[in-house]
Formats: sequence, C-alpha cells, structure tokens
Amino acid sequence: MSRRVAVLGCTGSIGRKSLDIVEDTPGLELGGILCGSDAGSLSDLVGRYRPTAAFVAAPPPGAVLPEGISCCEDGPERVMEGADLVLNAIVGSAGLGASLACMRLGLPLALANKESLVVGGELLRPHLEAGLVIPVDSEHSTVARCLRGEEGRVDMVLLTASGGASRDIPLEELRSSGPGAILRHPTWDMGGRITVDSATMVNKAFEVIEARWLFPGLSVDVVMHPESVVHSLVRLTDGSWKALMGEPDMAVPIQHALQWPDRPLAPVASDDPRDWPPLTFGEPDTERYPAFATVLEAADRGGTMPAAVNAADEVAVEAFLDGRIPFGRIAEVLAGVAREHEPLPVGSLDDLERADREARLLAGRLVEETC
Ligand code: MG
Repeated sequence: MSRRVAVLGCTGSIGRKSLDIVEDTPGLELGGILCGSDAGSLSDLVGRYRPTAAFVAAPPPGAVLPEGISCCEDGPERVMEGADLVLNAIVGSAGLGASLACMRLGLPLALANKESLVVGGELLRPHLEAGLVIPVDSEHSTVARCLRGEEGRVDMVLLTASGGASRDIPLEELRSSGPGAILRHPTWDMGGRITVDSATMVNKAFEVIEARWLFPGLSVDVVMHPESVVHSLVRLTDGSWKALMGEPDMAVPIQHALQWPDRPLAPVASDDPRDWPPLTFGEPDTERYPAFATVLEAADRGGTMPAAVNAADEVAVEAFLDGRIPFGRIAEVLAGVAREHEPLPVGSLDDLERADREARLLAGRLVEETC
C-alpha cells in the first residue's frame, strides 16, 4: 500500500527535494502541496509533480491565482486531506500552526520546521509523546537513527556544528560583515535565513531545544565539527560513541523521515571515507558566536522566552539580509529582546502569538536604533 505525503513549504529547498524524493520512491505518492505566497512557482510544481491539490497560504493581495491553485484561508488542514504523512518544511514560526493542525488530525509529522518545537514544543507534547513527530533536520534524524536498537543504553546526545560561513572570517571583520560574506555556507546548501542562523549558531541553539523535545531524558550538547562529515553522535552507557557519517545531503534525512519506520532502499551517493578531510572536533567559540549562548539561556528560562527570541531572530535576520544591520548587530538584537521579555507559561497558541508580536516590536525598535 502506498503512503500519501502532503508537502507544506513546497517551494523551499527542503520542500523541492521532498517532491523529487516522493516522485522517485516506490511506495510514496504525492498528496496536497502548500506554499507561502509564490503562486507562480507553485503553478510550475503542479505541472511537474501532479499533487492531489495545491494551495497558497498568503497570496499577494488582489492576485489572480493560476488554475488548479486555491487559497488556503481556512487553515492548513485542507492540504492534509487524504494524506498518510505530512512533511512540514515551512520556514519560520508560521510552521507551528501547520504542525498543530497535523496533530489534531492525528497524522505522522515529518518535521523540517524547527520553530514548531523551538516555539511550540509545549503545545506539541501530545504528538511527541505519541511518537508521531519524525525529525527531518539532519542532526536529529541522525540521533533518531542512532537510537534505534539502543533503548535505555544512551545517556547523551552530541549535535555537530559546522560553524557556518562566519567561522573563517577574522573576528574584527565579522561584526561589520554583510550578507555577501555570510551567505556562502561552507558545507550545506540551504536557504537564506538558515544560512545566517548557522553563521550566528542560533540555528544550533534552536537544534538543542528541538533535541530536548525529541529526546527527553538525554543530555544534549554541541561540538564544533567544521567538516560536517559526522552528522551527530550519541554516547552509549558503556562509554562508546555511535555516529552516522557521510557526504552532507538533505536527501538522506528526508528519505528516512518519509519512509519511517522503514529504512529507505534508495541509494543516495556512494561516498568513500578515504576522500574525507581529517575530522576535527572542538568547543564552540563564545566570542565568535555570542547569540548561541543567548538563545540557550533563553531556552532555560522557558515559557514564552524561546518564542520571543525566535521572533527577534526572524526580525534581525531579515534586517541583516536587507542590508539594514551588520552581522554583529543580530546577536545584540537577540540579547536586547531576551533581556526585556518577561516569559509567561505557554497554555495556547495565543500566548505564543502575543509573545511573538511583542518581541517583533521590540526587535524592530532595536534594529531602527542601528540605522
Ligand atoms: Mg540541522
């Protein structure tokens, strides 16, 4: 029996890769697809991949939608109609609503939207506890695969970090660097925001939060590993480490998530360890990555604090990509918002949305002060 997959965030890099994988994998078929606002690209994807339905979440006002494409104004549930599994690759905190809808429908969620857990982990707890959240993020996919067959025998998770494009820029230049220098990620080929978040290591701090939700009871730490060959490690209680290694390619975690708990048969690229560079491991440099510590401290304070810091990061990264603030200012905006925000407990999406709005206003003011 084939498994029908709904793909949300289908015009982004993970979304597009997923469409190819669904098309190429026997046993998978495409259900509904959803994009944010780019109806033109969506129309191309409809012609090429023939989804059961296609939706745009927020078309530009007054836009006439191409034939076969609907506006998804009554929420993401319609995209999931008839699906057996939902891949959520929406970028940013907008992805949380879709993850919650997936939970309401009781469908397995292949999660590439880390904000769903960073911001809304508390709300997704029932789905997590039901074992219905399958990580797509490469580090978490690695950990989930390493944990198989090791129940009760793992005590620590070590996420690897490449250090992003900022790692080779001299510290004195880094503060004033612009998008041109930062958007060249050394090992992974990704979208704009995540490339900046890798350079600040905010992405890695978010991944720590994500890992805490996905793997409760295990301690989670980060190791610098610039070669990106080891995709994360777990420590077994006998003291040995278990890891997965290979050429970085998001097709691997996507295939595993879409076929979970089966293991994909589709070979990716064959990779020879003799071609790898020497593998190195080290501590994160707190001077180079001040925002990393800021986000982890925010996570420890809990409640609405991660939502506030995430919103601040979305605002700061957008301002950076627009050339309104230099690289070093991103960390300062995050620290300013973390200082001001009074975290409250998370009982509903409203609590998170309020924190998000307040943090955006505050972050916007801090960005203005730079200009
Ligand atoms: Mg990752």
